[in-house]
Amino acid sequence: MNGRFCNRKGRPMGRYTEEVEKRRTFAIISHPDAGKTTLTEKLLLFGGAIREAGSVKGRKANKHAASDWMEIEKQRGISVTSSVLEFQYRGSHINILDTPGHQDFSEDTYRTLAAADSAVMLIDCAKGVEPQTIKLFEACRMRGIPVFTFVNKLDRQGKDPLELLEEIEEVLGMRSCPINWPVGMGADFCGVYDREHQRIYRYERGQDSYVLETEGADDERIREDVGDALADRLAEEIELLDVAGDPFDMDAIWAGKLTPVYFGSAVTNFGVEPFLESFLDLAPAPGARESDQGWIEPDQEKFSGFVFKIQANMNPAHRDRIAFLRICSGKYERGMAVNHVRTGKMIKLALPQQFMAQDRSAVEEAYAGDVVGLFDTGNFQVGDTLCEGGKYRFERLPQFPPEHFIRLTNKNAMRYKQFQKGINQLVEEGAIQLYRTFMEGIDELYIGAVGELQFQVFEHRMKGEYNVDLLMDRLPYRFARWVSGEVKDPSSLVYRGHTRCVKDSRDRLVVLFTSEFYLSTLEQDHPELTFLKLAE
Ligand code: GDP
Repeated sequence: MNGRFCNRKGRPMGRYTEEVEKRRTFAIISHPDAGKTTLTEKLLLFGGAIREAGSVKGRKANKHAASDWMEIEKQRGISVTSSVLEFQYRGSHINILDTPGHQDFSEDTYRTLAAADSAVMLIDCAKGVEPQTIKLFEACRMRGIPVFTFVNKLDRQGKDPLELLEEIEEVLGMRSCPINWPVGMGADFCGVYDREHQRIYRYERGQDSYVLETEGADDERIREDVGDALADRLAEEIELLDVAGDPFDMDAIWAGKLTPVYFGSAVTNFGVEPFLESFLDLAPAPGARESDQGWIEPDQEKFSGFVFKIQANMNPAHRDRIAFLRICSGKYERGMAVNHVRTGKMIKLALPQQFMAQDRSAVEEAYAGDVVGLFDTGNFQVGDTLCEGGKYRFERLPQFPPEHFIRLTNKNAMRYKQFQKGINQLVEEGAIQLYRTFMEGIDELYIGAVGELQFQVFEHRMKGEYNVDLLMDRLPYRFARWVSGEVKDPSSLVYRGHTRCVKDSRDRLVVLFTSEFYLSTLEQDHPELTFLKLAE
């Protein structure tokens, strides 16, 4: 799903331009333990959305105690809810979309990025760019959204900052432009130097930070304050960045080609506020979204939005679900009637919920960039467009590359119909990806998922909602590729035990692989074919 960000300065004001311009909707992408919870909590503290440190942590340990719904999930010990945290800060209206990580990593994590207008990539300075960060970064790149980098844990010894920039460039293929630069690290950490304003935000362990105004990185005042060794190093590194580094380029940032980089330490709350202020200044407000009938401007009068995630109730006694709607234009009002484009029905948006820090409260009005949760009795699918006075659809959400595969068997042949119905429903909902074998006289069903948790949820829902018991056998495949080009003989793509040809739910040819080796072998043997990570 594409977005287009453009500076509205000089353009005529729309009815809701002011509301839209205030909004920043973003996701934080990181590998587990980089400090996402800690950073989120500090951001919420600035916004006054929570009063005490520890609230978000509590949320993590004792997830979503805020409602019955979530209580049920908690009892199950699993949760697939990723919430939306909303707060105000100095005139900005901020929506942080939480991307579940750890064992909760799933297709929803990716889909959430489709609802974000930018991303904050959080990196642990000692660990650098880690696997989950890479995956999420790639999903951001696919959408071309701007990515802002926060290098965390500077209060601990980590990799050399220049080396970290190199790593971002080499591993992610992303150019970078440090907005500030660390003075020392670990035990020597003294703060960050703001390149534009030529000032140092001074850090002193256990004390309040203060600002040191300078006339450049080689200012004598720095020497007096932090000593010769750190001052020399700072001057040297800033000179290097000025001469050899990528210059600040707003267009490149908004095109997702250059990442602004900030350094800090979330746990000591150092560098977080300067980061937030700069981020709010540089990150785009909600932009126009592409539909099958052209671009939809966010400040236009008519309401529109799309469903990016459906949260099923884990309790079989309650079939209701929550559909998360990202608003793309107009003004949302409680109880309004909108067009549900896929079915052609008019739907009344009753009882919506907006997600704030921990409590859910009813929303009265919301604008482009905001997310509302709609109670759903089975009407919605992931990717559905809702709009007022039109019949357009936003682009489909892509299917994301599964990394886990299971062979599925119905334990009780008598319940064949329920088995089929359940699978169809859950595949439509986007809970799981379905594949079917079609060669060698074997007719088997495979399901694929981005994260392990999806299988547990799938099994639980098949039992709870359709009363179907499943046999699930793990398969050795590690990734899938959609085949583009004309395949005359699919058996030429099969290496026994290492690759397998299947069809997806839309009848497209997919090859499953056990290792990269067989992918490169197939690529060499079949130069006429392209093996795609994402379905076209
Ligand atoms: P998440 O898994 O990304 O949500 O990470 P958490 O926010 O739970 O943080 C993981 C661990 O790193 C916790 O023990 C935090 O206290 C610690 N941590 C987070 N930020 C910092 C930091 O700036 N410096 C140090 N030293 N530790 C941090």
